[in-house]
Amino acid sequence: MPGLEAFDRLGIRSEIDLLLHLPLRFEDLSRVVPIVQTRSGESAQVEGEVRTARSETQPRRSLRVDLADASGLISLRFIHFNASQVAQFKPGVRVRAHGEVRANLFGREMIHPRYRIVTLSTPLPQVMTPVYPTVAGIGQGLIRAAMTRVLRTMSLPETIPPVLLEPLGLPGLAEALRWLHAPPVGTSPEALEARTPAAWQRVILDELLAQQLSLRRARAERALQRAEPLADASLVERLLAELPFRLTGAQDRAWMEIARDLAGTQPMNRLLQGDVGSGKTVVAALAACQAIGSGAQVALMAPTEILAEQHLNKLSPWLERIGLKVGWLAGSMRESARRSMREAIASGTVDLVVGTHALIEQSVAFERLGLSIVDEQHRFGVAQRLALRTRQGGLAHQLMMSATPIPRTLAMSYYADLDVSVIDELPPGRTPVVTRLVSGERRDEVIERVREAARSGRQVYWVCPLIEESEALQLQTAIDTHAALSEALAPLEVGLVHGRLSAADKQQVMQAFNAGELPVLVATTVIEVGVDVPNASLMIIDHAERFGLAQLHQLRGRVGRGAVQSACVLLHHGPLSLGARHRLKAMRDTQDGFEIARIDLQVRGPGEFLGARQSGQALLRFADLERDARRVEQARDIARHMLRDHPDWVDRHIARWLGVRAEYLKA
Ligand code: ADP
Ligand code: MG
Repeated sequence: MPGLEAFDRLGIRSEIDLLLHLPLRFEDLSRVVPIVQTRSGESAQVEGEVRTARSETQPRRSLRVDLADASGLISLRFIHFNASQVAQFKPGVRVRAHGEVRANLFGREMIHPRYRIVTLSTPLPQVMTPVYPTVAGIGQGLIRAAMTRVLRTMSLPETIPPVLLEPLGLPGLAEALRWLHAPPVGTSPEALEARTPAAWQRVILDELLAQQLSLRRARAERALQRAEPLADASLVERLLAELPFRLTGAQDRAWMEIARDLAGTQPMNRLLQGDVGSGKTVVAALAACQAIGSGAQVALMAPTEILAEQHLNKLSPWLERIGLKVGWLAGSMRESARRSMREAIASGTVDLVVGTHALIEQSVAFERLGLSIVDEQHRFGVAQRLALRTRQGGLAHQLMMSATPIPRTLAMSYYADLDVSVIDELPPGRTPVVTRLVSGERRDEVIERVREAARSGRQVYWVCPLIEESEALQLQTAIDTHAALSEALAPLEVGLVHGRLSAADKQQVMQAFNAGELPVLVATTVIEVGVDVPNASLMIIDHAERFGLAQLHQLRGRVGRGAVQSACVLLHHGPLSLGARHRLKAMRDTQDGFEIARIDLQVRGPGEFLGARQSGQALLRFADLERDARRVEQARDIARHMLRDHPDWVDRHIARWLGVRAEYLKA
């Protein structure tokens, strides 16, 4: 389609993209109102001749254009304007202007109206005028013109079989889009309001259906894929015997589900979900043992080196005790060390390799990869996850782990291709973390409390504020906080860890903290996930009002891991926004990750919640899984019927909605 290049920045690359670029609202520009009939506070369209146009400096610099029709006078006022605009408004020129009218003793005016120069014969639009979302440089006129062209020529065959569509009482897609862009001549605002919801519902249904179809198809394709069955339980028995604790009931259930998947000939695609501290690592270790015992190699990938290293530290003693070889591969290693690890992986002399993205580099080739474990899976892109499971002659089993609890409705539809195991119980002997909200004015008391805790042999995290606008500023704040606390707490030693430290330095500080050599650790959010120091039992989160709810929950999960009573102090500053108050209260009142996720979802919406933007998964643009829960069910039913009875319709529907993105959903 010609002329579409300019739209690339709006994500519009095809006719259907353009058609799905739906208006934000409509303006009724089909009527002109005599100036005397306009009312203060209401929008109106007027038309008249310019009497005078002049720049004024009082009360502030502005351009004022006086416009008259047969009934009266109105001033158009522009604060931002340029010379060519001034020149445009010659006396006698006809102007049609649309905006909100303000009236007072001195007359009527419109501030920054939308306007155009017209002649007596310029026709009025016959339809409601749509207002589109846009970006700088792409005017409403350009979008409207393209849309008019496309709406005139579009051929948009129906992609839902009539027998399935009719019972829903929704319009056809072409009809719905036509209505949403260009309601017919003479449509009253009331009629617009009455009929628009059904048109929207049709678009929402289509989008949900595309998602369901592609996920179900991906699942069906996976069922045809072969994976090596990994069923030998002898190493599992030995690890269980070595563990210093018994599995909780929830761990046991999750493990049984995973063990069954591993023994199957279809590649496992399972998400292991459990709140922070629920004990996912040991379940992953059991999975690794079953795979290794059955003759396979295992890879465990984590999003950061700190996290990967924690896994290494935890897993190696367990696995080495039963005679297994554990390797380590990360970006910060010397090239020579990396090379020899790659060789060990390729020749099969290591059983389990723990690492970061370095594991999915081209040069890493496993001799017999049978299971890949991905921690904090939502931090990886789909393509990255896929890279770690392809192997010769089939797919490796994949186990993903996440501490971000996904509410059930969301999991069901968004992850329709994923099996989910949930660890919904904490290991015994944990005491809940006491959470206190403390005003920033009492900072000195809080510092005293840190000193007492450190004196009594406990360890303390001090988390520095999140500064979203500026990483540099965030770093500076961490450095300043570290200096201030070092001075206030002297002679106690205070450590500092932040994202800009080299991996080796980070590791050194974390090791010192781990070993109990540092009583206090000042940290940015790099400690958000996974860090596990049982002796740390006090956490101060500075400027807690700036953090998101999920992030606060993740951070707090770093304490309460040992047997002593732990506490978390949410230090807040300044007048709190309603949202911030809501978040802090939720943190004080609950520790249940699922409850927190539910509240978070309400506040943020699912797209952002899942970090979908970063991971490149298909976002739902129109549907909302919570709001449209009923449509999700409908879409699932229709998808089932379509795949069974109308398979030839399926491709067309998926292609229209997802295009190339469909490929990605298969991971
Ligand atoms: P997470 O789910 O956050 O990754 P971890 O696997 O790191 O949690 O486990 C948290 C802590 O609980 C670890 O120190 C681990 O050894 C311990 N743990 C795990 N399972 C049990 C259990 N069944 N009984 C007692 N302690 C356990
Ligand atoms: Mg963990």
